[in-house]
Amino acid sequence: MAIFENPNFDDHESVHAFSDPISGLKAFVAVHSTKLGPAAGGCRFWSYPTSSEALTDVLRLSRGMSYKNAMAGLNLGGGKAVVMKPEGKIDREALFGALGAFIDDLGGKYYTAEDVGMSPDDMRIIQKETKYVAGLDEGEAASGDPSPVTADGVFRCIRLGVEKKLGRSLKGVTVAVQGLGHVGYDLCGRLNVAGAKLIVTDINAEAVNKAIEDFGARAVTPDQIYSVKADVYAPCALGATINAKTVNALNVQVIAGAANNQLSIPAMGRVLADKGILYCPDYVVNGGGIINIAGEIEGKYDPAWVEKKLQGLENTLAEIIEIADNSEKTTDVIADEMARTRIAMAAS
Ligand code: NAD
Repeated sequence: MAIFENPNFDDHESVHAFSDPISGLKAFVAVHSTKLGPAAGGCRFWSYPTSSEALTDVLRLSRGMSYKNAMAGLNLGGGKAVVMKPEGKIDREALFGALGAFIDDLGGKYYTAEDVGMSPDDMRIIQKETKYVAGLDEGEAASGDPSPVTADGVFRCIRLGVEKKLGRSLKGVTVAVQGLGHVGYDLCGRLNVAGAKLIVTDINAEAVNKAIEDFGARAVTPDQIYSVKADVYAPCALGATINAKTVNALNVQVIAGAANNQLSIPAMGRVLADKGILYCPDYVVNGGGIINIAGEIEGKYDPAWVEKKLQGLENTLAEIIEIADNSEKTTDVIADEMARTRIAMAAS
């Protein structure tokens, strides 16, 4: 399990492996950059077949957080935690308590929050061991679950992408939503209110049935979501869903969703552009949650400041689309360049 040779290693400032045999905790924390401020990014709880795959995920995700925080205009660097889901019965109190203690040992270099597989209850367990946790329900500056704000940002970016690409509002536009978890389900609600038609999928049948009932969504199987005819594809489950197997099947004009690392490899950005699909870069689109959390980390949560930053996300996406329209560059490359420039400017 080489670190420096891993293709996703990007001069990360530090990579930490934590193990606690009593609780069964096996976790990685990667701090990609603290140039803009303390590294911040969620904690993912997932069944990784091997620790190499968990390491690859934490390297990719933490770099994505550096870019996301820079693009959202936050004084935060990029970091991420991944916890390998143990086999058998899980004692979450012991597991996340041990994680909290390890995060505390990092002394504020990394702030954690909720990500896939985690709940507000898990965050409360971590909070008992460390103050370096955000997205909490209680406390002076508590910002609560970031997911609705992430969904708000995704909704705004879909609306903007549709306006730029199709020249129309969301009314009557068909959106294929993959993943009906904390973000995806909330996003469906917003799209439904705006008059969009929904095609949905999830591996959780209960979530699918709820979307059918609540929003009159049409359900498809997880495999079918890649080939359905729709205006927008909104990936809100896991990453790398735009890959060699799926990209040719995509029958949409805009891609904008919450999932991190949607492109399996950077070359997918060019493939999408050549197909005439507007790809709205994931870490710009899904910055709402970390914006919400940033207020809490600074100790003064202010909804008006959050709203201003959400508008900033829209402006940034509009700028990226405009540059792409007037150059040969793809939107993902433009976003990467903008993020790196913002980080470099802070460091100089
Ligand atoms: P979640 O765990 O609540 O929801 C994920 C959903 O995807 C679940 O309902 C799960 O059953 C479904 N899913 C998993 N594999 C699937 C598959 N193969 N096909 C269809 N559905 C599948 O997670 P979330 O908090 O809603 O986050 C969704 C995505 O957005 C993640 O990639 C996450 O990293 C990213 N994200 C979340 C936030 C946030 O504020 N929660 C912020 C930024 C980015």
